[in-house]
Amino acid sequence: MNKILKINEIFFSLQGESSKSGLPTTFIRLSGCHLRCQYCDTKYAYHNGENLDIKSIIKKVKNYQSKHVCITGGEPLLQKSVYPLMTQLCDKGYKVSLETSGDKSAVLVDNRVKKIIDIKTPDSKAGVSVHFDNLKNLSNTELKFVICSDKDFNWAENFVKENNLSESKILYSPSFGEVTATHLAEKILSSGSSAQLQIQLHKYLWPNKESGI
Ligand code: SF4
Repeated sequence: MNKILKINEIFFSLQGESSKSGLPTTFIRLSGCHLRCQYCDTKYAYHNGENLDIKSIIKKVKNYQSKHVCITGGEPLLQKSVYPLMTQLCDKGYKVSLETSGDKSAVLVDNRVKKIIDIKTPDSKAGVSVHFDNLKNLSNTELKFVICSDKDFNWAENFVKENNLSESKILYSPSFGEVTATHLAEKILSSGSSAQLQIQLHKYLWPNKESGI
């Protein structure tokens, strides 16, 4: 059966986040999110979207030249049909990544998919809601913390320490407009943190663009 997903948008741009930052990528943004992070820049994806079957989604992806595909949202794991979508994309030779909010179990995601798991900090105001199964197998996984304040930075450092994550791929991203990249860079350097600084590249390249970035 060709499964249906509610899709907010499919677009081609540069990857703005994760260790793949800067790579031309086709984005599939799924509709719907159960969280309400105070810095959310994709509120338009909470409800709007059109129902598409997997075949139609892959056909749209083929319109772009990139072999990199990022599944994002919203929260993609709210829709069960995202699992066969990711597997079919991998089968067709795409390098697939998944951006997820971290409080839904991602253990059933195809092993070929790179998982970028957001760990929500206290000042995200989303509620700290980590699904700890996601920390058990961190191969092909990056853990991303959006840092909104010095309090968040200290919380993230403690989280990494308490969960023995210093050997894992840890990304700290400054919350745009709340913490500067320079300030976060200096915090990382002065604290001996093992985290890698990342900026939301698309916000610097296209600061006034709301969607399709
Ligand atoms: S998890 Fe993502 S889409 Fe959902 S509210 Fe937070 S930033 Fe927005």
